[in-house]
Amino acid sequence: MKKKHFSILVILLLLTGCSNKLDNINWKFWEYFIEEDASEEVVEEVPEEEEPVEEEEKPEENPQTEVPPETNENQFVLEEPFFTVLNEEKVIENTDNILVLVNKNQSLPADYVPKDLTIPDVPFSFEGDFDKKYLREEAAHALEELFAAAEAENVEIFAVSGYRSYETQYGIYNSYLKKWGEEKTNAVSAIPGHSEHQTGLAMDISSRSAALDLTEEFGETPEGQWVKEHASEHGFIIRYPQDGEVITGYQYEPWHLRYVGKEVASYIHEHDLTLEEFFDRAIKQ
Ligand SMILES: [Zn+2]
Repeated sequence: MKKKHFSILVILLLLTGCSNKLDNINWKFWEYFIEEDASEEVVEEVPEEEEPVEEEEKPEENPQTEVPPETNENQFVLEEPFFTVLNEEKVIENTDNILVLVNKNQSLPADYVPKDLTIPDVPFSFEGDFDKKYLREEAAHALEELFAAAEAENVEIFAVSGYRSYETQYGIYNSYLKKWGEEKTNAVSAIPGHSEHQTGLAMDISSRSAALDLTEEFGETPEGQWVKEHASEHGFIIRYPQDGEVITGYQYEPWHLRYVGKEVASYIHEHDLTLEEFFDRAIKQ
């Protein structure tokens, strides 16, 4: 019985004085533990400094050694003599190369005249025996083939301007210069030595539908469209294609055909390249 009374007394004492005693407890003690837990979580986040990403990027620093295997399927293997050889003044040394690359950066010697010039047996837009009727023999025969193929499909085209000597180009360039000034002249005409017509491998063509003129409209005529589609089958490319000015240095010239041989022409046509881009891709054998 005494025990029971004692227990009731203790409970009563606790209940009445409980509030005072609870106030005396140091709650900060518990906060200490709570803070410690939080600080432990922060510690777990520390390994932020690990950055192994840079190491993965390092192999990309040597792209030259890796590019050939990746693009091999699209590259064209070409024998070394077909690549253009330049001297220190960027004048072409292997001038008779059928794939000679003449542009604004590299020129033919002023005295270069192809040895095998001949007149192709095709319709011309003019009468008489002028230099501009001539082409190098291989290109002349290819042009005859192209014109015969066109005729077989009732496509009537005319040769307008082929071989041009350094002296003739000199006269043309300077007359344009007087008329138009340097900027416009350089967009459409070549500085003497830099004209592809001096190679004897280029022929400008047109049609009656384009008034036998050398204008962009020729590209839109049925004849221009046919040539664009079939020139490569006979070894020719549209040397200055649409939107190619940044690379070739010349505006679109749908009339200017350049002989490069069937194999190279087909590759260029298929891959939609300029001659400059072709040589960037080609591999020397
Ligand atoms: Zn031309």
